[in-house]
This record gives sequence, C-alpha cells and structure tokens, in this order.
Amino acid sequence: MKPAPFEYHAPRSLDEALQTLADAGEGGKVLAGGQSLIPLLNMRLAAPAHLVDINRLDALAAVDVEAGGVRVGALARHAQVERSAPVAAAQPLLRRALRLVAHPVIRNRGTVVGSLAHADPAAELPAVLTLLGGSVRLARTGAVRDVPAATFFTGPLESAIQPGELAVSAFFPAPPPRSGTAFHELARRHGDYALAGIAALVVLDDEGRIASATVAGVSLGPVPVLLDVTEALGGKPADSADWASAARAVRDGIDPEADIHATADYRRHLAGVLAERALRDAAREAADA
Ligand SMILES: Cc1cc2nc3c(=O)[nH]c(=O)nc-3n(C[C@H](O)[C@H](O)[C@H](O)COP(=O)(O)OP(=O)(O)OC[C@H]3O[C@@H](n4cnc5c(N)ncnc54)[C@H](O)[C@@H]3O)c2cc1C
Repeated sequence: MKPAPFEYHAPRSLDEALQTLADAGEGGKVLAGGQSLIPLLNMRLAAPAHLVDINRLDALAAVDVEAGGVRVGALARHAQVERSAPVAAAQPLLRRALRLVAHPVIRNRGTVVGSLAHADPAAELPAVLTLLGGSVRLARTGAVRDVPAATFFTGPLESAIQPGELAVSAFFPAPPPRSGTAFHELARRHGDYALAGIAALVVLDDEGRIASATVAGVSLGPVPVLLDVTEALGGKPADSADWASAARAVRDGIDPEADIHATADYRRHLAGVLAERALRDAAREAADA
C-alpha cells in the first residue's frame, strides 16, 4: 500500500520546524529515521496531514557526554551512539541495549530519540531511559520542558509529546559509583523485537553489599515496567545474594499480556529467568567497578 496523501515539510532550522509543527497542530507528525513511521504510513495505520522531516536539522545530531550523563540529540542515529567510545565509557548500558535493537541497517537510520518518541513497549531504549531515570527534552515555539521517563511513556505507542512539540534530545544519566548494569532479552530471531527483556542496575555499598537493585522490563506491560527488587535481595553481599528471590519478585510484580508470539505465563517465566541473569551480571560489574 501507499501512504495517504500528506503535505511534506523539510525545515532548515529548529525554529522553522517548531513553527511548522505549531501550524500543523494535531495533523502534524515528525519524521526522523522513518524506521517505524514509514511502515505505519504505508500500512495507513497513521495518516498525518503534515509530515515534518527533521533530517536537515544537523545541530540535532549532537551526542554530548555532559557532567552526570549523556545527552543524545534527536537526529543521532542508533549506530552513531552505539559506536561512540565516550558514550560507552559514560553510560555502558546504552551500547549494550543498542546492540539488541533491530539490525545494523535499521540502526544506521533509526534514531535514539525517535525510538523513545515511538514509545513501543517492546523497544529497548524506553526501558533503558526508565531504568536510569532519564528524561526527554520537548520543545515547542517559545517553550522547552524536560519530561522524566516515569511520566513520558503513557501507553503503548503513546507518550507525553503533545501536538506542536518536538523531542529535541534525551538525557541518559551516568551510572552511580559502585554500580553495574546489564541487558538480557530473548527474541525468536536475532534483531527481532524481544518476547521479553530485562535491563538491570545494581549498586553496592562500601562493604560490597547490595544497596539497591532495580530492573526495567521490555514487552512486559503497556509501558516499560520498573521494579525495585532491593528488598528481595536483603542487603546481602553480591556473591551470596538470593537471585532466585529477586526473580520471584519480578515475576510477581508484572502483569504481561499474551499475543501471537507468547502466552502471558511464558512471558512471566521468561522475565524471571532474564532478571536473574541480568541482576547477576550487573552485580558482577558493580563488584569490579
Ligand atoms: C525490521 C525492524 C525491526 C526493528 N526492531 C527493533 C527492535 O528490536 N527494537 C527497537 O527498539 N526498535 C526496533 N525497530 C524500530 C527502530 O528502532 C526505529 O528506528 C525506532 O523505533 C524509531 O526511530 P526512527 O528515528 O526511525 O523514528 P521514526 O520512524 O521517524 O518515527 C517514529 C515515531 O516517533 C515520532 N518521532 C520521531 N522522532 C521524533 C521527535 N524528535 N520528536 C517527536 N516525535 C518524533 C514520529 O512522529 C513517529 O510517530 C525495528 C524496526 C524495523 C523496521
């Protein structure tokens, strides 16, 4: 199928893009890498009256390692972020997660911020932003606001972005001291969206005991699921922690849905297995930090 007719805009500056989006209102849609939007247009699952292509806004391709984290501009492609050594040093979870996103060809074109804006609960980056407590910067004519991950994702393919707004960047906080992260998922074929996935963050105290342990889930709910499993691990040293009890807490804390790919029970089971692996790996990394 071909997309429904739309008016194509290719703004040359951020101001022009924001004005075009303001004029388009509810009928406007941003085109970034197009890896999710173009199929939706072709299948006529989306039919915006105005398509605002931001690919000429070169300034939005910046990826900056700032004090306290990594700021990724709206035009930074998955591959650009994945290959950046300074980014990997500042926030290793980004590279780990990005290697699980689709295939290299899609990562060459798709954008990190586009993936967040798309708000697919099966996508890796929304879970990463949620786990790390990051935020998305939204701009409209004359105003900018930062929306924390906890309120950014509002439902499947729904976010806090309002008509007239453009997501200009996302901020991924750096890991706290003595912490480690990991990302485990299961997909039927490499590069497919995962049946379930878990990102984990473990922080140790000065004695090497688990001070906090959190996980964020992929494909386990309508938005990225964030669970604090610190209590289940009971402040034990990482090498004698009861990971099975943390896995139980994850299984009990989620309410996954069934679809043509997996039953709800299978997803719940998988979440426990993946959580145990991810928490162990994160704790190992924290111990070496
Ligand atoms: C075969 C295939 C497999 C894939 N597998 C995975 C996978 O395993 N994991 C995964 O996470 N993703 C996967 N994807 C999706 C891919 O990662 C996309 O790149 C990503 O979801 C969207 O990024 P994009 O830049 O292409 O956005 P686009 O397709 O251009 O836009 C997606 C949506 O976000 C909006 N949007 C984009 N940028 C902005 C912005 N700056 N401000 C406001 N709104 C914006 C658009 O209006 C649109 O609604 C897959 C895609 C394909 C085709």
